[in-house]
Amino acid sequence: MVIGDEPHRPYDRPPLSKEFLTGPYDEDRLLLRPTADPANLDFTLKLGRKAIELDVEQGRVMLDDGEVITYEGLVIATGAQPRRLPASAGAEGASGLHVLRSLDDARSLREDLHPGKRVLVVGAGFIGAEVAASARQMGCEVTLIDLASAPLDRVLDSASGMAIADLHRSNGVDVRLEVALDHVEVDEGGRVKRSVLSSGDVVAIDTVVVGIGVVPNTGWLSGSGLTVDDGVVADETCLAAPRVVVAGDVAKWPNRSFGGRMMRVEQWDNAIDQGGYAGRRIVAAIKGDALATPVEPYAPIPWFWSDQYDRKIQLAGMPTERAELMQGAVADRQFVKAFLDEDDVVQGVLCWNRPRQAVLGRQLVAAGESVAAARERLG
Ligand code: NAP
Repeated sequence: MVIGDEPHRPYDRPPLSKEFLTGPYDEDRLLLRPTADPANLDFTLKLGRKAIELDVEQGRVMLDDGEVITYEGLVIATGAQPRRLPASAGAEGASGLHVLRSLDDARSLREDLHPGKRVLVVGAGFIGAEVAASARQMGCEVTLIDLASAPLDRVLDSASGMAIADLHRSNGVDVRLEVALDHVEVDEGGRVKRSVLSSGDVVAIDTVVVGIGVVPNTGWLSGSGLTVDDGVVADETCLAAPRVVVAGDVAKWPNRSFGGRMMRVEQWDNAIDQGGYAGRRIVAAIKGDALATPVEPYAPIPWFWSDQYDRKIQLAGMPTERAELMQGAVADRQFVKAFLDEDDVVQGVLCWNRPRQAVLGRQLVAAGESVAAARERLG
């Protein structure tokens, strides 16, 4: 049985900030298509239903409509929800204010993006950068702000982050860094009309998109006995308790490929891989003595891509403080950069419009190769 709180059949999220927003993809194109006919698969899909409580001892999940479901094995993949602006921003409930996570969010935002509309994007992370690019393509006037000194600050080194800022500026976005949204003013109809920034600057607006990160959906697990610490904490095989496995944005586990570093990965590629792994893991847990069953640890090399304008940005592995340019030039927005640890072992490879090198980069990180090998293969 699969339970999901959205009313829609399972769908792909990456196009929501890109092809769905700008037009080429319709809703049907977003749907995940199981290789087998769902009618022939022995499972029940409960949509629009929310899990509100878990009893690990009894193996029971309570749903918001009062139904209690008993399980032999449970996979927790409740994902994350957008972080909201503080109440002091004065924007709660205003029309024209958006977050972007779900299909419903994207439908609503799309209605507000038209040529000439003035859009303020708060947060220059993945959502902010991709929505800013899409809104520009749709003819909007866009202001993009972030508290950090460079876009995508959490996942890129600052030089590469500044290249993102330049990319947006050269496409007509007003990028303002190290600045926050202080508050929003609304008109008599309750629609956003003006934003006041922490710098004191005032920006006239028709729409605000907030992309300031996500919070894992763990509230329903309080009192369950599971360890929750910015995600559900699991062992290196994603087991959080006997017969309970975690996957996706909500999962936090030690990744052996990075010396057992605790990770919570908010990326599409990991959701697919970890979902498959969790399925196999839960079967092993049900069949054997859950904690004793020998199972290979889940130790992926994370990978993401982000399409902005005509650039495809890909990162395999993790960024570090030490970076070496392997190919191209950052200023040309076409380059390959390797991130190294203190022993010169490659921890991550960043590629701009170099998809082949991104594949190679992932192999280098997985094999724990040195910078010398990276120079030879990526240079
Ligand atoms: P994100 O990538 O974590 O970026 C949020 C950005 O907002 C960060 O730069 C953050 O800075 C900044 N920020 C936080 N508070 C702020 C404030 N009050 N004012 C201005 N800036 C603020 O999160 P996101 O862009 O909201 O994306 C949401 C999720 O969707 C993530 O899980 C992301 O991985 C996923 N996603 C992925 C892709 C992709 O892989 N291509 C595309 C879209 C979405 P600090 O880091 O300093 O807090």
